[in-house]
Amino acid sequence: MMTHYVFISGGVISGLGKGVTAASVALLLQSAGFRVNLVKIDMYLNQDAGTMNPLEHGEVFVTADGCETDQDLGHYERFLNRRLSRKNYLTAGQVYARILAQERALFYDGACVEVYHHFPAEVVKFLRRAGRGYDFLLVELGGSVGEYQNILFFETIRRWKMRCPNQVWLMHLVYLPLPPSLGEMKTKPAQQSIAELHRLGLNPDWLICRGPQAPDQPRRAKLALVSALPQEDIFAAPDTWPIYRLPLLLLDQGFLRRFLTKLGLPRRPARLKSWRQLIGQVDQLQTQRSIAIVGKYYASGQFSLADAYISVVESIKIAAWHQGIKPEIIWVDSEKVEQHGLSALPKKVAGVVVPGGFGCRGVEGKIATIRWARENKIPFLGLCYGLQLATVEFARHVAGLKRAHTTEVDRQTPHPVIDLMPEQEKKLLARDYGGTMRLGNWPCRLRPRTLARRAYRRALIYERHRHRYEVNNRYRARLEQAGLVIAGTSPDGRLVEIIELPASSHPFFVATQFHPEFTSRFLRPNPLFRAFISACQQNVNYNLT
Ligand code: GLN
Repeated sequence: MMTHYVFISGGVISGLGKGVTAASVALLLQSAGFRVNLVKIDMYLNQDAGTMNPLEHGEVFVTADGCETDQDLGHYERFLNRRLSRKNYLTAGQVYARILAQERALFYDGACVEVYHHFPAEVVKFLRRAGRGYDFLLVELGGSVGEYQNILFFETIRRWKMRCPNQVWLMHLVYLPLPPSLGEMKTKPAQQSIAELHRLGLNPDWLICRGPQAPDQPRRAKLALVSALPQEDIFAAPDTWPIYRLPLLLLDQGFLRRFLTKLGLPRRPARLKSWRQLIGQVDQLQTQRSIAIVGKYYASGQFSLADAYISVVESIKIAAWHQGIKPEIIWVDSEKVEQHGLSALPKKVAGVVVPGGFGCRGVEGKIATIRWARENKIPFLGLCYGLQLATVEFARHVAGLKRAHTTEVDRQTPHPVIDLMPEQEKKLLARDYGGTMRLGNWPCRLRPRTLARRAYRRALIYERHRHRYEVNNRYRARLEQAGLVIAGTSPDGRLVEIIELPASSHPFFVATQFHPEFTSRFLRPNPLFRAFISACQQNVNYNLT
């Protein structure tokens, strides 16, 4: 079967849920036995998401092969239960970088190099490679139609579609607001976004209607009229909880049948039994547990965004669902803890997560929270910076190393318990920042009889990394003497990967240098999150209050 390329664009607003929709469509096709791949395109000139501020752009999702990508790849992996790679992420910056390198190598044979010709050609080349060996390549286009920045990507679709009308398709997401003051669902913004597509020489092949509820018959008729589509090609994707229900909502509207018919492909049923079962279980959950995530948040005017931690949140939720628990996430602003002390912490939590981070903002608040979790025997999971700050906290308050710190925050600290990895020093001096952290999968050997080993049930694991700093080996013996357990290291023993407190002194205190949140899947939670949630479930204090 030839590869079908299905672009997924959006209009009206950003944050429409294109990623979740793309992942849902991919899941339906995959569960019907098709070979499906996905690509996310970002319109930015950054060559990867590693140099974008996660507090503004959202989480940097790291693939196993060490590419710093957009958070939508996290949705794809969690839905499809599959590993993706750098072949699944493209930015405008990468396209330009390739064109410019090729120009220097006389690849264009003396032709004038023009965005108009060479940009689309380069994008198609990338996508063809990503689609090789697959029945479908779904391509999610970042941003929304009408933005100046992604115009060349829409132009790519237009030309490719013109050349290969039976192979290149466009699915467009629109938003249908229901303003409370009007009490009526409005289609005009969606109509305008379709008109924007028309201006670019494109008409969608399917429309997906996002909004608080599914559009009714008169509204579907209006949208069908402006998009010249039969109503059967207009689908509803109303707000739903959890997001993992969306594939079922689409399936139940006959999406798969209609989609395959349009492409001239024979119908195939989607096999989603365990998916449906799990959603059914999530709907029934009663036992609630609150889990605190201590991070720093991006204030945008009056609003605070927490997208930077999406994989952590999904990992907590998924692990909780699999353990029969309804999780409630409590956001704790580490800067508030810094300013107001422990009174800024919630009264009742079953567990605390300190996720990854960079720089000095809110650091002392995170350290104070870790101390609180350690002293009050509250299950604690530290991720990356969470491990580094847990080490600092332990060094200061248990091992007696006054003013111990990470050199990322305090270069003058008398006890640099966390320090730059030697190979990183040169990179920072040369301002060689992009894509140069210790990234992607690295092996970690687990020490027997530790919480981590019990969780993973294996001696050697591979998890994803993204860091420049590490536990300073000069302090290892001192920390271990004071009771810190080094539960995992790189196989050569050189890098600390996991620290713990012995089960005799704390019910669950584990921190990892890697990011276990990147390997949770809806059908298969990450083992460490599972172990953490199980500790939260058994948290005696929580159960008493
Ligand atoms: N800032 C720390 C480092 O660079 C931790 C990074 C992280 O949490 N991802 O090592």
